[in-house]
Amino acid sequence: MDGKRKLTQLSELGEFKLIDHLTKDFVNQNKSSLKGIGDDAAVISTSNGDIVLTTDLLVEGIHFNLVYTPLKHIGYKSVVVNLSDIYAMNARPSQITVSLAVSKKFSLEALEEFYAGVKLACERYCVDLVGGDTSSSITGMMVSITAVGFAPAERLVYRNGACINDLICVSGDLGAAYTGLQILERERKIFESDPLIQPDLAGYDYILARQLKPEARIDIIEKLEKSSILPTSMIDISDGLSSDLLHICTQSKVGCRIYQEKIPINKETARVAGELNLEPLICALNGGEDYELLFTIPLGEAEKATGLQDVSVIGHITGQEKGIKIVTDGGSEILLDAEGWDTMASKNHS
Ligand code: ADP
Ligand code: MG
Repeated sequence: MDGKRKLTQLSELGEFKLIDHLTKDFVNQNKSSLKGIGDDAAVISTSNGDIVLTTDLLVEGIHFNLVYTPLKHIGYKSVVVNLSDIYAMNARPSQITVSLAVSKKFSLEALEEFYAGVKLACERYCVDLVGGDTSSSITGMMVSITAVGFAPAERLVYRNGACINDLICVSGDLGAAYTGLQILERERKIFESDPLIQPDLAGYDYILARQLKPEARIDIIEKLEKSSILPTSMIDISDGLSSDLLHICTQSKVGCRIYQEKIPINKETARVAGELNLEPLICALNGGEDYELLFTIPLGEAEKATGLQDVSVIGHITGQEKGIKIVTDGGSEILLDAEGWDTMASKNHS
């Protein structure tokens, strides 16, 4: 023995186990901390309704690449991903703070572009920029945004409320942002090997927009409210359907069956996945960054749900003992795990 303590590589744990490990000894000391770690956002009670609070960190080279992402888009997306977490609690965002670390390579004009994107998102979603922090960094850019929202306590929807027989619904379509990222990465590599070759991005409009300019689904939240549907559980899809459905099922202590044929995949996504030798279903299950809403509703609301535009019913909740499974078009039942049922080769975000 050399007396040295063996240190643990973070990769041995993965993101979720790491968060659990680091925070397991924290006990809330304030009654007002209604919901702590573990949902899309924390919930703080006040005598005047509940406050919903979430934060996200975006790091250059991990979450965005400046080679193909205009700074205005990064500003816009950084805000939107936070608002998406607020909507996933069925709350309404109202304020954000923006903290920024930038290296010397950024000019005033570059940061103005970033803030133009932040402003566009603030206007589009009616939220106010109320503060933040600014620092220099040795390498690259880091953006940390915190969003605050409000909801009446009885309207809040958590990840842990799914019940047996509930229907599983998802908004929009899945896998597009991931295939968009693969196209951008492909063109980046071609460009880096030969700068004379211009990127060829024609025919990829939809998937590129989904990667570069995602939207938070306030329209779905509004439609649900108009139809008087209160989901029993909800999460936004940031890490992929598979991983996020797992969060709902494990926290609700239930199982589920989803059906391959019901999973909404845009035609362009399917075409490009084929072009990239990827299985469209795997892109939908594991891709992430779709920022669609995944929610469960009581079976009794089935009729109302099928009337909702841009919402697909993809399966139902079962008892926990039945496992968390997808039924493929061929009829086989496959267990979903945190990485989906086929680990993806590369995923450049966490
Ligand atoms: P989302 O994908 O919805 O943004 P995350 O997977 O980032 O959610 O986070 C899951 C939960 O863990 C959230 O409640 C979040 O606030 C919490 N969390 C993440 N990182 C940390 C950390 N470093 N310390 C404490 N809590 C954290
Ligand atoms: Mg979330």
